[in-house]
Amino acid sequence: MLRLPPFRYLAPRTLTEAVEMLVQEGEQAMPLAGGTDLLPNMKRRQFTPSALIALQGIADLRRLEGSPATGMRLGAGITLTELSMLPQVMTGYRALALAAASVSTPQLRNVGTLGGNLLLDTRCNYYNQTEFWRHSIGYCMKKDGEICLVAPGSPRCWAISSADTAPVLVALDARVRLQGAQGERVIPVRELFRDDGMHPYTKTHDELVSDILLSPTDGWQSIYLKLRRRGSFDFPLLGVAIALKKRADGIVDDVRIVLGAVASHPVEAREAEALLRGNALTPEVIEAVALAAAKRARPLDNADLTIAYRKQVAPVYIRRALLQLARE
Ligand SMILES: Cc1cc2nc3c(=O)[nH]c(=O)nc-3n(C[C@H](O)[C@H](O)[C@H](O)COP(=O)(O)OP(=O)(O)OC[C@H]3O[C@@H](n4cnc5c(N)ncnc54)[C@H](O)[C@@H]3O)c2cc1C
Repeated sequence: MLRLPPFRYLAPRTLTEAVEMLVQEGEQAMPLAGGTDLLPNMKRRQFTPSALIALQGIADLRRLEGSPATGMRLGAGITLTELSMLPQVMTGYRALALAAASVSTPQLRNVGTLGGNLLLDTRCNYYNQTEFWRHSIGYCMKKDGEICLVAPGSPRCWAISSADTAPVLVALDARVRLQGAQGERVIPVRELFRDDGMHPYTKTHDELVSDILLSPTDGWQSIYLKLRRRGSFDFPLLGVAIALKKRADGIVDDVRIVLGAVASHPVEAREAEALLRGNALTPEVIEAVALAAAKRARPLDNADLTIAYRKQVAPVYIRRALLQLARE
């Protein structure tokens, strides 16, 4: 049985108190939300924090305001089950409800949160293993080792961003509110990520995600499709998040296509978006856009299923997502 390493458990009641604790405890402390990513990682010794700052008791993190007409504020502490079943999200931001519903299992979604999902640690075949396994292969650079076992000649880590809600929130052009020792700031969700498997987030250690801000729906439709080995539960091997706005005559006014689980951050397919803007979703346009977007997916030996299969299936999933949006 894998056991947790020792740690101190702190239970703040407010965001300010939680930030103060993070500052006092220093770099060795970590926030704990549902714990469905962090606690297994601690059991595998990927993290050995001296203290966990539990966020479950902070009422502000569970706040939910607004509507698709006015825009919404979703507290980082709302659970994935709640998110997937919120009528406002199901109707106004469908891709987000679909992504939340596709995360792991019902039990884990009942405690796993939106904030924890957004800040999921990057994943890799050579990293998400027990300490014993990683020791036997000499560790990798993400934890305790020197080189990247996916690309030994590379100076960087290629662990993947595997959070289902992350590409969706980028496609929805959502913003995230961060609260830290220096005060509060709001940034686009896309700016929360950096292309670095070891340090995938731009937020500072003392900053907490307090909420996610969604713009008014204003005619935008969205979809999320996920490739995974087991339909019942599994991390994504590809996530396709598309948000688009059509005119009454079917011409696409604006679109955002974002791929998940293909790099250390959600990848925006800007060239493919440009091909679609100003055009109708005809079979020819869909084909061209799917092929262009799939070029942004460059799978490596860092996830399940073969590289060749993951490469082949990328345009198929993008095409399917566009076809679904075309039919609506
Ligand atoms: C078997 C299994 C299958 C899974 N399948 C999937 C899947 O298909 N898709 C998927 O996306 N995930 C999957 N997960 C991972 C996990 O369940 C989800 O990502 C979940 O949403 C994580 O949320 P949490 O609240 O449990 O986060 P936690 O584990 O509590 O935290 C995750 C990280 O975020 C930080 N954090 C949490 N909240 C905040 C905050 N408000 N501010 C600052 N930092 C914060 C923590 O310090 C930690 O670093 C799976 C996990 C398991 C065990």
